[in-house]
Amino acid sequence: MQNWLLQRAYLTPERQALQFEGRTYTWYTLVEQAKRRAGQLITAGITPHSRIALLSPNSDELVITIYAGMLLQCELVMCNCRLSATEIQAQLQDAEVTQVIATSEQQHKVASNVILLEEVQQKEVRIVDMATEWQEQNTLSIMYTSGTTGSPKGVRQTYGNHLSSALSASLNVGMSPEDVWLCTMPLFHVSGFSILMRAVIYGNEVLLYERFDTAEVVHQIITGKATHMSVVAYTLAQILTQLEQQNLDVPPSFKLMLAGGGTIPERYLLRAQQANIRIAQTYGMTETCSQTATLPPQDALRKLGSTGKPLFFNAMRIEGTTEPFIQGEICVKGPHVTPAYIGKFATRNTMQDGWLHTGDIGYFDDEGYLYVVDRRADLIISGGENIYPAEIEQVLLGHAMVLEAGVCGIEDERWGSVPAAFIVVTTSYRQEEVEAYCKAHLASYKCPKHWFVVSQLPRNASNKIMRHQLRELLT
Ligand code: ATP
Ligand code: MG
Repeated sequence: MQNWLLQRAYLTPERQALQFEGRTYTWYTLVEQAKRRAGQLITAGITPHSRIALLSPNSDELVITIYAGMLLQCELVMCNCRLSATEIQAQLQDAEVTQVIATSEQQHKVASNVILLEEVQQKEVRIVDMATEWQEQNTLSIMYTSGTTGSPKGVRQTYGNHLSSALSASLNVGMSPEDVWLCTMPLFHVSGFSILMRAVIYGNEVLLYERFDTAEVVHQIITGKATHMSVVAYTLAQILTQLEQQNLDVPPSFKLMLAGGGTIPERYLLRAQQANIRIAQTYGMTETCSQTATLPPQDALRKLGSTGKPLFFNAMRIEGTTEPFIQGEICVKGPHVTPAYIGKFATRNTMQDGWLHTGDIGYFDDEGYLYVVDRRADLIISGGENIYPAEIEQVLLGHAMVLEAGVCGIEDERWGSVPAAFIVVTTSYRQEEVEAYCKAHLASYKCPKHWFVVSQLPRNASNKIMRHQLRELLT
């Protein structure tokens, strides 16, 4: 296939491509900058086709460097800059990168072979011979999973994976050239990185931020600049609260909020409808190069809680059953699925008979809509009954006194394990009331037996609750 970046600049040079902190780029200027940066990377000692790591928060300079890396056909290891030095070094070692390009603020986390991004920007621009054709099976990016269940795994994502992911996503959402995708997701996660890849492939604009800022996001939605945005439950809640408190109307120019990364509480979906926000719930993972099933917004309330059907090109099944409503491990197949992990997980066999085993439990309803229940690893078995923490967290979040909730199993002499609730609460919190609410909405064996009010929950850089760390809050 053709080099996406050269093709994009050739097809729509005048169209807006990127905005960051007031700096704007058309596709022509952005790709020109990326070409220059590719020349600077060569001067800095980067070899085309090598595996390099990028360690930087979201910025236009990072975007330019990512695109430059693609022009050089490097394998880009996207490092999570919220990780500690020890964690970063473990990943760099696992990925066996030749060089690391880091911002000066992040530099201290890297032991060797580090090149400062700020210095690369000053380097002489060498003339680079760029491939005009790219190969589908080549690795574009390597990303580590969030580490929600344990050790992050390095996932190989090819050009073909990104391309099919972008195409099937747009067939579902429908994009037009004027659309502007607001991106506060980190580019080192596939939720953010896929926004960039889709932008090149569709030719639309990205409004990029270093971090999520509720007031700024709401401003961009209300004034009609942003048309699409990706959120997780946590950021969606912040946006809804601000809209409600200030009694703001969302204009029809705002087309869609893509909500994923974990379960979205039903209460948020109802609030979003009240606020006139169209939500598309999505299910995906690093291994599937972003979305794999997405609920079309018109089904958002009819299929409350579902993540929709598999996107075009891919298939999903529940291990061990073809019957609706039977729970089991979700398996995925399609051109968006990673060919393999790298490093210490390289030999792990996630694919069986060509299906990726996700480690997530779910079921299909009788119309073929997927419902994700929870992670298999977080299952609590209490007195022989299966309990998934997500169901309890959902109920807790349904109570107005509970702002955030995380549930895990705690050992119990009699039952083996019992659910424990860790909650962030409002000032009017009364435990008896929340307990009574749980009893009214959950079978008694699912009601939390231990309650801990905490000031915050352990979350990773994707704002996901790390349930295995909940118990550590007590020590
Ligand atoms: P690790 O694999 O290291 O434990 P992780 O699985 O959190 O981390 P990601 O690839 O970032 O790493 O996240 C994918 C996971 O997020 C899915 O496997 C699933 O558990 C969860 N997830 C994503 N979307 C949804 C959703 N809509 N509903 C419920 N869970 C979801
Ligand atoms: Mg995972």
